[in-house]
Amino acid sequence: MKINGHEILPGENKKIKIRVGKLPSGTHINIFANVYRAKKKGKTLLVLGGIHGDEINGVEIIRRSIEQEYYEDLESGTVIVIPLLNVYGFINFSREVPDGKDVNRSFPGVNTGSLASRVARKLTKFILPHVDMGIDFHTGGDSRYNYPQIRYSKGVDESKTLASIFNAPFMIEKPMIKKSLRKAANDRGIPIIVFEGGESKRLDDLSIEKGLAGIKNILYHFGMIKPEESDNHITTSIKINKTSWIRARDSGLFRALKKSGYQVEEKELIGMIKDVLGEESKNIHSSRKAYILGHNNAPVVNMGDALFNLGWQDK
Ligand SMILES: [Zn+2]
Repeated sequence: MKINGHEILPGENKKIKIRVGKLPSGTHINIFANVYRAKKKGKTLLVLGGIHGDEINGVEIIRRSIEQEYYEDLESGTVIVIPLLNVYGFINFSREVPDGKDVNRSFPGVNTGSLASRVARKLTKFILPHVDMGIDFHTGGDSRYNYPQIRYSKGVDESKTLASIFNAPFMIEKPMIKKSLRKAANDRGIPIIVFEGGESKRLDDLSIEKGLAGIKNILYHFGMIKPEESDNHITTSIKINKTSWIRARDSGLFRALKKSGYQVEEKELIGMIKDVLGEESKNIHSSRKAYILGHNNAPVVNMGDALFNLGWQDK
């Protein structure tokens, strides 16, 4: 296996640097990838974080998986681990790159394109050709918390299978988004599942725990690591194929009475919006029987803001 001029032989583990660009100050920007290869042939798995630079849970999940030596002594196959793709966003506490473009809407990317497109291109050119399957780690954005969940591509059986092996609390069927990594990889026959957990700019223990467990489940399933005795490999994920946001019908101070992870009944009281003078209070009810997959942690909301993301299984 050769990545950007670096040869990685079976049985070798190597850290690889891919130059993406440079800051106006002259500082070079690099993406780092750890590549772990077993002597025995097998699948190649991509473990990727930080396409969105402020979604730190994913970066932390992958960092811990390296620290805890998940890939150090693989039984078979190869794992390419990239904790942070969008270095620009990470150093600016931002989802995007400095020109405001979203790397995950810029795939497959162009070498001479905008910055986001150039970052996407590095992954498409140097990494994707080696990969059989991948996990892409994300969080909710702008104060919106996502209960740990795996999203897989509608109509792609391999991605559904991967999602079920990962075994997050929820597995959610989603259409593919144009110019996303998931779409670009799928066009090349590579199933990629997307983990969502917690919110941007914050660490969330539950999401980190579920993310780490999911990586292990995948590694074990494909014979890349030995199982641990305590492991339970029966899928317990709750399946979801329909989601919908409940939005604020008024502006004011928002309080969630039910949070993500709960199952709620139709018309159940799940939150309130109050005006600052203490005169008005509007109740928010669940529109249907569903699970709360995500909620807004913002204390101040405007009309139309997304408050609760409901999910259910439509037969
Ligand atoms: Zn994201």
